[in-house]
Amino acid sequence: MKKTMTRLPALFISHGSPMLAIQDSPAHQFLRDLGQSLPRPHAIVVASAHWETMGGPAVSTVAHPDTIHDFGGFPRALFEIAYPAPGAPETALRAAALLEQAGYAVNTSATRGLDHGAWVPLRLMYPDADIPVTQVSIVRDATPAAHLLLGQALRSLRDEGVLVIGSGSLTHNLSEFRGQAIDAAAPAWVREFEVWMHERLSQGDTASLLNYRKQAPHAVRNHPSEEHLSPLFVVMGAAGDTASAARLHASVEYGVLAMDAYAFD
Ligand code: ZN
Repeated sequence: MKKTMTRLPALFISHGSPMLAIQDSPAHQFLRDLGQSLPRPHAIVVASAHWETMGGPAVSTVAHPDTIHDFGGFPRALFEIAYPAPGAPETALRAAALLEQAGYAVNTSATRGLDHGAWVPLRLMYPDADIPVTQVSIVRDATPAAHLLLGQALRSLRDEGVLVIGSGSLTHNLSEFRGQAIDAAAPAWVREFEVWMHERLSQGDTASLLNYRKQAPHAVRNHPSEEHLSPLFVVMGAAGDTASAARLHASVEYGVLAMDAYAFD
């Protein structure tokens, strides 16, 4: 019998600080509700800001991924969290094959676990840890357009019951975090960037978005390095040429981390 699969949206999620895992906030509550609002995926592929590879993409084929605590200076409780979701080696190999068909040299890792860009939001979305998950890397120093192409190669996964998630942060300048409270107001340079991105995403203005570093207000200040925005371009690619973005959530934590989330259908 042929399985019928519901086509899943592609999601961009801002994972903010690792404290999102244990600290209540509007973004924390949003992610708790999000998993229940979606059709149940067969497997999940996460492109996280915290797995960057050189030259080309990599996928993890591990069957039982470790929970990677890739952060420092946070409470012990965060380091004690395990997210024991099964790996998704079949989906990973399918992703690798799609990428190879698109001309990429793909590395597979049989050991790579889940970094906090993946497990922090997934633990809120799917607390039962019962959906297989794999990660695909982003590519260091690759352009937004290159990440869009990478996501395009993965597009057909969405017709196979796979939830494609890009996990980054809509704004991400940690050097501007100076002990602000979690609910501190965002400065204008954060707000103006967030508004510009929302307008372009809502309009499906891919050309402007790919050129955000030149066109968006305060782009370099909000992203001194690009790895926390690269997952957005992967998701835009996975979404499709005519995909429109719906903003599912908007909030700012610690004044400098815009926690916005978008769904592309
Ligand atoms: Zn991060």
